[in-house]
Amino acid sequence: MELFDSHAHLDDEKFNIDREELIPEIYNSGITKILSCGYNIEGSLKAIELSKKYEYIYSSVGISPNDLYTNWEEDVDKVEKILQKELNNNSKIVAVGEIGLDYHYDTNKDWQKTAFVKQIEIANRYNLPIIIHTREAVTDTISILKENPVNKKGIFHCCPFNRELIKEGLKMGFYISIAGPITFKNSKNAEEIANLVPLDRLLIETDSPYLAPEPVRGTRNDSRNVKYTAQKIADFRKISLEEIAIATYENAKKIFNII
Ligand SMILES: [Zn+2]
Repeated sequence: MELFDSHAHLDDEKFNIDREELIPEIYNSGITKILSCGYNIEGSLKAIELSKKYEYIYSSVGISPNDLYTNWEEDVDKVEKILQKELNNNSKIVAVGEIGLDYHYDTNKDWQKTAFVKQIEIANRYNLPIIIHTREAVTDTISILKENPVNKKGIFHCCPFNRELIKEGLKMGFYISIAGPITFKNSKNAEEIANLVPLDRLLIETDSPYLAPEPVRGTRNDSRNVKYTAQKIADFRKISLEEIAIATYENAKKIFNII
């Protein structure tokens, strides 16, 4: 059985002590494809570096709503420059992301909205899907996506368990990626959400090193733990782990255009 972790941050400093040993261990445990997701310029460049080094790692480039500083416009321009330079340079860049809106912290909503729209435009210029981070911003996220259609669609990453968001996202042709919180005992609507997403639109991810699932909750997360999320979804849907593995693997290859 092979699994695809559609969202990890392998560049994160929490992996600095053992990254080079850990990555082959992850692969050998059956997680045979990983998307290392960018969230700022430095992280995006590191993701690219890893995707060049390891055949089974793919990368994405983008500025997350939590990484916008006074020079955010320059950073957004750099996203495009990186794509110009690296897209055909064995970098395996398969998406623009993570991008989106996050109103949880007191950051500038206008910057966030403009940066989101500008990066959607970049994705459209380069024919790439997007990876969306959305938190406490359902209405604005949906309206921006409706006003700015993404040609190659994309993924709601670590998707909040919000019925309206998921239904609208599915209607617009997006994929829904479920992370570790689906396994948490106090997770509201987990079972309903696991059943709400059609099997051909479902992805699984770790968002590691964060959000370790049960039974390893609270530890440093890594891509190997994506199996716990897959198992929980299989249990909720009353189908086999293999069925979840095959569907989510094929879906990730499809949205990231991996042959
Ligand atoms: Zn992430």
